[in-house]
Amino acid sequence: MAQWYACAVVAVFGALVGSYINMLVYRLPRELDTVRRRSFCPHCQHVLGVVDLVPLLSYLWFRGRCHYCQQAIGLRYFLVEFFLALSASWLWYEYSGRKNFMILGFVLLAVGVALILIDFEFQILPDSLTLGFLAFTLFMIFMRGYTVSSTLERTAVGLTSGAFMFALAWTASKILKQEAMGGGDIKWAAAMGAVLGFPRIVVGLFLGFLMGSLIAIFALAVLKKGRRDAIPFGPALVLGTWVAYFWGQNLWDWYWRF
Ligand SMILES: [Zn+2]
Repeated sequence: MAQWYACAVVAVFGALVGSYINMLVYRLPRELDTVRRRSFCPHCQHVLGVVDLVPLLSYLWFRGRCHYCQQAIGLRYFLVEFFLALSASWLWYEYSGRKNFMILGFVLLAVGVALILIDFEFQILPDSLTLGFLAFTLFMIFMRGYTVSSTLERTAVGLTSGAFMFALAWTASKILKQEAMGGGDIKWAAAMGAVLGFPRIVVGLFLGFLMGSLIAIFALAVLKKGRRDAIPFGPALVLGTWVAYFWGQNLWDWYWRF
């Protein structure tokens, strides 16, 4: 019973983080103040009260509408809170014996959700998220064993991964004669290297490129997008990072058994 009680408390925490992430996704690309300004309705600008800020429940209670202007609030807000509530309790259930791994994993999921949503809508990966996560990762790696060598090793993997992405972006831009990947993708690749380390970074980049290609083929064939339309590559890299963070080592071992 104690385990279930703890999972429920952790889920509430996850939902609260989800509601903060929703706010970041709205404000970061619009360059609005993300700390001091109180939450407001994007339609009527009304400052939200305490009842409006209860994650998940307020959405259900007001049936997905702002309770001042009755405009629909995207289902996305609810899904982000739900996803992070679920993630938090899963992580607690699965990894509470490995606190650093669990905390870093949760931050990776939360930051990843923000990156995916912002990249789809604005085709950018904000520095505050990519470089901020890179710094947080190195801090957590250092806190794990208080060793400089492990921190330096992850820094080196991060730099290598970033350099690899830079070389790839440069080559692709020469071949396609247009910018193929943004600076945000390069910075995120560096963060990927730091959080994954070797050999999980290989798995993460491979899965990222695989999913990126599938998204590109889907966009070209089904959505009839032109070759010149921007295809957000960031979301694919984030998904690759998620899978590699939790199961990368297993996938790597499984591959080499053949
Ligand atoms: Zn409103």
